[in-house]
Order: sequence, then structure tokens, then C-alpha cells
Amino acid sequence: MKVNRNFDNLVPNYLFAEIAKRTAGYIEEHPDQKVIKLGIGDVTLPLAPVVVDALKKGADELGVKETFKGYPVCEGYAFVREAVSNYYASFGVSVDKDEIFISDGAKSDTGNIGDIFGTENTVLVTDPVYPVYVDSNIMAGRKIVYAPSTEENGFCAMPDESVQADIIYLCSPNNPTGAAYTADQLKIWVDYALKNDAIILYDCAYEAFITDDCPRSIFAIDGARQCAIEFCSLSKTAGFTGTRCGYTVVPKELERDGHNIYKLWYRREATKFNGVSYPVQCAAAAVFSEEGQRQIKENLDYYKENARIICDAMDELGIYYTGGKNSPYIWLRCPNGMGSWEFFDYLLSNAQVVGTPGEGFGECGKGYFRLTSFGDRENTIEAVERIKKLLSK
Ligand code: PLP
Repeated sequence: MKVNRNFDNLVPNYLFAEIAKRTAGYIEEHPDQKVIKLGIGDVTLPLAPVVVDALKKGADELGVKETFKGYPVCEGYAFVREAVSNYYASFGVSVDKDEIFISDGAKSDTGNIGDIFGTENTVLVTDPVYPVYVDSNIMAGRKIVYAPSTEENGFCAMPDESVQADIIYLCSPNNPTGAAYTADQLKIWVDYALKNDAIILYDCAYEAFITDDCPRSIFAIDGARQCAIEFCSLSKTAGFTGTRCGYTVVPKELERDGHNIYKLWYRREATKFNGVSYPVQCAAAAVFSEEGQRQIKENLDYYKENARIICDAMDELGIYYTGGKNSPYIWLRCPNGMGSWEFFDYLLSNAQVVGTPGEGFGECGKGYFRLTSFGDRENTIEAVERIKKLLSK
């Protein structure tokens, strides 16, 4: 037998293991010092009470014969899809509930969507990049081309007309850079995709952090229904990183290569996915209730305030950065021309603050660094004070 030899082409990703190793080493040598972690991409606030109540109620129903549920439908219960559809309508985007697939998260779906596309397609990703898009396509054996996100384009890579791509991953607001595309920029990508007969895979896992008029969905853009699939997640919106739930939108009229893309994805899901558990779907629906929206906003506001505190410090220090405004991530240029890992060590040794070296997300991340606003308030304030003291010397 043979294994999938495409796995040989994966580049080992040591980023988070290396961060953990260096941090642990430092703590062992300096047990008396308090190290603050602003590198984490996971949330820290608990689920909203209304969400927990819905989870419990869903679990209780499973324990009673009359309300017991077996396998759910793979695309999710209508009551959740309806709730998601209404959520889209709340910011002016029309998505039919039957175009929505409830999933166990955006990571699975952005990775699995490749099942329905030929391996001869060329995949375009922006660099730096959320590693799932790259690794899942390397596993499938697809060719990958990179669109550089740089200071010159505000870390919003734009299409190069001389590059032909069939599958385009866009992430806005972006992980790791925090930069968000404007409607005009997205329109350029949509036009490029339509011209090239390509499909945009649009990951808006951080849409709930948008505070200005950047689109919260690619379907706010004319023509997107003819060229895009959208992935979203409740992980960062509502603290579901451990609960697991997301949703994917495939417009019914999306066609390529003589096939209906919605039907292909439906068939893929029906074959390989048995749906999200009932209590989790109840919890997801609760997120979209009026009270749910009010309660999750409190958590989002908390993280947004942390982000503002970090951004203010960067402004004070005159350090270039993106993100922080429409995103929990602040992506900064390492001061004094330091490399990403050099700055990591410098910050850890001199301020006892841990961040994420940008070069772990791609070539264009070299010399940049990611801080997150997912920590608690006191630690964020203390970390920022230490960074200011260190870098204003
Ligand atoms: N997409 C992006 C851009 C992310 O940063 C993350 C998580 O960090 C995910 C998707 C994963 O989402 P989920 O937890 O729904 O799998």
C-alpha cells in the first residue's frame, strides 16, 4: 500500500511548539517573573449565559423519550439556518436558509471544501496566511501561488492580472494581520474571480469584530453569488472554540465546470458528515437571539477594548501596525529592524511578554509580530505598560 505522498511536501509547522518551548525555558530559568501571554489565538471569556442555558436545555431534551433526537440532518436544523439567515439580513445581506450549512467550525470546512474541486486547480493564498488553507491544499496535491500582503498594500493583497488562479482564499478581517478589505477592494477580487472563472473561498471568522463599514460578508458585493463560498465561525464571535460550531454559505446558483457547486458540497457533506450535535445547534441558535446578541456583544466589546489599549500604545510608540480596529489581532512591524524571532526573544527577556512571530505565517510575515486582544484586561494593561517602558527607552 502507499500513503498520500503529498504529505511529504508539508513544511513542518513549529510555530506554536517553538513559542511554547522558548516560553517554558524562560519561565524555568526565571520562576520569580510573571510572563504575560499575548500570543494566544484562543478566547478566554466564558460562553454567554443564554448560550449555556440553551446547551443545557438541548441536553435535557435528549434525555427524555418524547424529545430525544437521533442523527441530525447534515446541513443543520432549519431553526439554526433560519437564525443565521436572519443574522445576515440584520446587516443587509440576503442569504437563504437553504444555502447555509451548519458545521463543526470553519477550520474543518475551509479544509474540507477542497474535496469538491479538482486537484489540477491552482490555489491562490495571501501571504502571510492562516496555515489551514495552505496545508490542506498541499495534502491534496494542488499548486499554490502566493499574493503578497505588505505594508505597501496595507496587508490587503490585491489580484495580479498576470497570475491565473482557480481557487482563491481570502480572509477578512485577516488572521494574522487583522487587516480588513473594503467593499471596493473586494469588488476587485470578485471581478478577478469572475474573469478567471475562479471561486473565492471567503473566510470571515472575525466579521463580528468589524467596527467600520468594511463588509461583513462577501455577499455584500455585487457578483459574489456567482463566484464565492463563505465560511464563518462562532469561535471568536461567541467563544465557541471548545463548543465547536460554524457555518458555510454556498449560493444555489454557483456553477463551475458544468456542475452546481451547492449540489457538490451537499453531496460531500451527506457522505462524510453527520452534522453538529443537537445541544450545540441549540446553543448556536441562542447566539443569534436578541438576548444572545446582547450578551456576546459584552464579550466582543471587552476584547475590542483590549485591542484599543494595545493600538494606543503602538500609536504612542510610533510603531507601524495593522488590525486592532476590525480585529482582535494587532500586527506590528518589529522595532529597530529586528527579525520576528529576535523580537520575540527580546520581548520575552526584557518585558516578559509573549507574542507570535509573524514569519510563522509566511515569507511576508518576516520582521512582523502578532499580539492578540484575547487576554484579560489587567494583563493586557500590564503587558502594554511593560512594552511601552521597554521600547520608549
Ligand atoms: N479561520 C480563521 C481565519 C481562523 O483564525 C480560525 C481560528 O483561529 C478559524 C478559521 C477556525 O475556526 P473554527 O474554530 O470555527 O474551526
